Amino acid sequence: MNIILLGAPGSGKGTQAALLSEKFNLQHISTGELCRKEVSKGTTLGSKLADIMKAGQLIPDILIIDILKQHLLESSKSNKGFIFDGFPRTISQAKDLDNMLADLKLTVEHVIQINVDKNYIVSRLSSRTSCAQCGHVYNDKTNPTLVSGVCDKCGSKEFIHRQDDNEEIILKRLDVYSTLTAPLIPYYQGMGKLHQIDGNTDVETVSNRIENLLNADKVSPKSASV
Ligand code: AMP
Repeated sequence: MNIILLGAPGSGKGTQAALLSEKFNLQHISTGELCRKEVSKGTTLGSKLADIMKAGQLIPDILIIDILKQHLLESSKSNKGFIFDGFPRTISQAKDLDNMLADLKLTVEHVIQINVDKNYIVSRLSSRTSCAQCGHVYNDKTNPTLVSGVCDKCGSKEFIHRQDDNEEIILKRLDVYSTLTAPLIPYYQGMGKLHQIDGNTDVETVSNRIENLLNADKVSPKSASV
């Protein structure tokens, strides 16, 4: 099973993808995370990506496709399904993804769009942090660590607040989402693959909604609006 998680920045894609990858034994592919890894290597490509990300813009299609292609080829050896988080973000990327998967004799079965209100997004992203060691994502308000200041996954006590999670850049990213990414909604609806989920609630409820949807005996994208 290969799944795309679609949604505005701060809709919870990353958190939900991490949970789904455990529940359904899928490989979580976050293109944002792939970019941040490249940035942390301090390469020329990394510094170019950092500038674009800091400005809240999208990485040009040709670059992000290259980054993903490399990763996909290595990951496809494991025979697990994929859960794409933050990719595709343009119609052109969606078409390229279909071609890349077709070369691997794979296809996307489900596209799950997580809907969250704009004012909720800004407050959510402003309080988002991640573990500096393992990258696990938390939210001081909605999804805190079990023990204050200690990562649940690896025990690290160091946390990072993303540079692009400040109000000005969040609003820019939301604009970019509306203009370039939202057209994917009718695109996948037209293919009969889109499911819409209300994400204006806690992590566990959203996760259960997605799980129920994927576990349903017959998933009918056109009728699934949870
Ligand atoms: P994310 O971690 O998904 O919020 O992504 C962080 C940033 O990485 C985005 O704001 C973009 O600058 C860049 N990025 C991640 N995925 C893509 C993509 N599919 N296309 C273009 N840029 C991307």
